[in-house]
Amino acid sequence: MARCKCKICGTELNTTEAYKVTVGKINRYFCSKEEYDAEIKRKEKEKEDKDRVYRLICDILNEKEVLNTALWKEKAIWNKAFSDEIIAKYLQENKDYLTSAVSRLSGTEYAKIRYVSAVLKNSLRDFKPKDEEVPKPKVVVIEEHYETKYKPKTRMALEDLEEGYDE
Ligand SMILES: [Zn+2]
Repeated sequence: MARCKCKICGTELNTTEAYKVTVGKINRYFCSKEEYDAEIKRKEKEKEDKDRVYRLICDILNEKEVLNTALWKEKAIWNKAFSDEIIAKYLQENKDYLTSAVSRLSGTEYAKIRYVSAVLKNSLRDFKPKDEEVPKPKVVVIEEHYETKYKPKTRMALEDLEEGYDE
């Protein structure tokens, strides 16, 4: 029985009880299959989000590929405070606006990247993705409860308003 460390969280484990993943001749150990699977999923999503941000930037700049390294320098600054997931959501929701704003710029690709970057830096802090307003099933139950509770109040308020208009 040998000691090993979980590659994700660093927990000390015994090789006999740890979850083992073998790639080539190298064994890697993890606390559990669940932890390993979740980490794989997280990494895949991270990559997907990164690709999405890049594709959206290309679309907004109306280029097939953006090779200017300024993009990666700017992106590194965005990522200090924001995940690619949130950046992709912002770009997706504001794609039309940004695309038309960028198309009106007469400058170089570099200037366009700087423009998009400036918008992101100014806007991401207060950005609330639309899909986060959609309640999850668990929340719906609570909202229904509140809705029933407050319905009479709302109706009364509406009636008050209508009466106000009649006078
Ligand atoms: Zn672990």
